[in-house]
Amino acid sequence: QRTAVERGRALHKRAAELYFQCLRDDGRARTAREYLSRRGVSDSVAVDFALGYAPPGWEFLATRLQQEGYLPEELERFGLIVPRQGGEGHYDRFRNRIIFPIFDAQGRPVAFGGRVLDDEVPKYLNSPETPLYKKGQHLYGLNKAGPAIREKGVAVLVEGYMDVIASHQHGIRQAVASLGTAMTPEQGRLLLRYAPQVLICYDSDRAGVEAAVKAGEILTGLGARIHVLTLPEGKDPDEYLQRHGADSFWLAAEQAPPFFTFCFSRIAAGQDLSTAAGKVTVVRELASLLLMIPSAVEQEANIQWLARELRISEAAVMEEIRGHARNAR
Ligand code: ATP
Ligand code: MN
Ligand code: MN
Ligand code: MN
Repeated sequence: QRTAVERGRALHKRAAELYFQCLRDDGRARTAREYLSRRGVSDSVAVDFALGYAPPGWEFLATRLQQEGYLPEELERFGLIVPRQGGEGHYDRFRNRIIFPIFDAQGRPVAFGGRVLDDEVPKYLNSPETPLYKKGQHLYGLNKAGPAIREKGVAVLVEGYMDVIASHQHGIRQAVASLGTAMTPEQGRLLLRYAPQVLICYDSDRAGVEAAVKAGEILTGLGARIHVLTLPEGKDPDEYLQRHGADSFWLAAEQAPPFFTFCFSRIAAGQDLSTAAGKVTVVRELASLLLMIPSAVEQEANIQWLARELRISEAAVMEEIRGHARNAR
């Protein structure tokens, strides 16, 4: 007698296999195969990440998995089918989409993401929260990237499915994605089990930069060493790698500033640092970040750096920060 969660795991394994086979063999998957090849996804990396395809019909998965003895209730509980509104029966959640299985760190599929093949919205559809999948607790690609992150001592954190896939295809095997929403503390803790250092490489559009700041703050609080790589021209890592290749990516990565310096530059850009008022603003804006650093030594090193940069004493920086800590309480 298997538990509900065990059945859920088996269900995801079968669903992933069916989507995978469909992308390989099904005549209806031709446009999907063309789409992936147009985006430069090699066959071997598609196999590595077990990419699949959900055909356009309403009951591809529902029919097959029920034939194999799964009940509509459990297919629904695990987010694979959706009840018809005001009617009998169910339909597949994922239709006419490229399927990206989301694996846990042990390599078991626990959820799916699905991308449209054109400009329809929503561009991506994900499994809902289920007994197997809590949003913000998994990192896409970690099952593949784990050994490389341990070996290199640094993880590359990107936004999306395609960024992870392109990174791996270009030999950047330590890449994982937080998937859309900025990373959570749980994802941060999970990542830092593999290495203490993270290179954040989110999309360089506005949303990506804001998400990078949030991720950097969370990772700072967890004691990580962080650098931020902002790729030029509003690109994401997938587009950048397709166009410029991995050597160019690593050259840019060498120039990536530490997270603290990155934040300093963003704030300093709007200030006149020759004035006391400008210096005060910068210190106050950075105070909460400095207070998040768990190591007193790291914190002091950043305070020293900031004091030199602003041509003021460390004692003055400390005093401003203490004032900030008091006000925050
Ligand atoms: P692509 O290159 O295929 O267009 P992308 O990864 O560059 O995709 P972004 O818009 O940059 O797409 O989004 C980054 C990530 O955010 C996606 O990979 C996906 O995980 C998530 N995401 C984007 N749009 C949605 C959406 N509508 N619903 C849920 N998640 C989404
Ligand atoms: Mn984006
Ligand atoms: Mn993107
Ligand atoms: Mn993209």
